[in-house]
Amino acid sequence: MPRPLVATIDIAALRHNLGVAKRCAPNSKVLAVVKANAYGHGLERSMRGFADADGLGLIEVDNAARLRQLGWQKRIVLLEGFFDASDLQAIVEHQIETVVHCMEQLEMLENAQLNGRINVHLKINSGMNRLGFLPSVCKAIYQRLRAIPAVRDISFITHFANAEDANNARVSLAQQVQRFNAAIEGLPGDRCLSNSAADLMHPECAADWVRPGVMLYGGTPADTTAEKFGLRPAMTLRSEIIGIQHIVVGDAVGYGSSFVADKAMTIGIVACGYADGYPRHAPSGTPIVVDGIKTRIVGRVSMDMITVDLTSIASARVGSKVVLWGQDLPIDEVANAAGTVGYELMCAIAPRVQIAERDDLEQTNHSI
Ligand SMILES: *Cc1c(COP(=O)(O)O)cnc(C)c1O
Repeated sequence: MPRPLVATIDIAALRHNLGVAKRCAPNSKVLAVVKANAYGHGLERSMRGFADADGLGLIEVDNAARLRQLGWQKRIVLLEGFFDASDLQAIVEHQIETVVHCMEQLEMLENAQLNGRINVHLKINSGMNRLGFLPSVCKAIYQRLRAIPAVRDISFITHFANAEDANNARVSLAQQVQRFNAAIEGLPGDRCLSNSAADLMHPECAADWVRPGVMLYGGTPADTTAEKFGLRPAMTLRSEIIGIQHIVVGDAVGYGSSFVADKAMTIGIVACGYADGYPRHAPSGTPIVVDGIKTRIVGRVSMDMITVDLTSIASARVGSKVVLWGQDLPIDEVANAAGTVGYELMCAIAPRVQIAERDDLEQTNHSI
């Protein structure tokens, strides 16, 4: 028997969530973001779930090439561009599109001898101050790109710092939109601004393209729950109770004995720990579901195990089903309790976790 810890990826949910992204931006094309192994969901699996997307965005050129080998024929965009001039060969060969966000990348492109043409996305720093050219130099950068014979289409992209908090006092959404538009006023080329939060909450920012990530996996980028946005969890992490302890008042649980019982308690041991991607910093009280009933973790998360409160779950025994997140327990609820975001939990799923796959559409077809 393999260990009972399994992450089930729901392809129908990926498809459904892409539908939500499209309905939020009905006149835009969708570049589905599949970086970080598709936020932990698997590149190939997500490629199938996002078959109706207009393009895929990710970070590494070798993963972009892999998407081509897997049969993806639409756009692929390297969201951070290339890291070395030697990447350009593969970019041309596999018809991958690249962001250009800094002078060094521009110079590598200018100096390269390419045996084909590529599409580039000029990245504009509109206030995030992470990647991109300042608005004041964008027109000059555009002219230099335009002068490179190997450059075919030039598009424009920027990234929001606060799309889920549009009126942020330091950098507002409107400010970023205004700087972006001013930087490239009058230049031809597709525009792409929106991440998930902007796609869901600011349809006015949907330009030629939107660029959603976390929403496609059923995570929420905002305080609003994913369910309220009509999103479905694409990853459910399940395990089982593998041991039970009955403790009395004053007994402590786990490393550091940080949790001390104030009454007689039943403690369940769950096969899942921080080496599986469960956050070690999740405190006592973090929600977890056993036998369909919501309870809490108690004590410190170990490498391979979590201890949970089974006191009020009479049915619980070794073999009881546990949901760590996903169906019946939103990943964002667990993330909030652990002081992080659903994004981090999804993409931290460790290689040793077994992956299962379901696709409601196929299952329905089979039963007909
Ligand atoms: C990760 C990323 C996205 C997607 O962001 P979400 O908040 O997950 O929707 C979009 N654009 C860029 C450049 C990114 O790096």
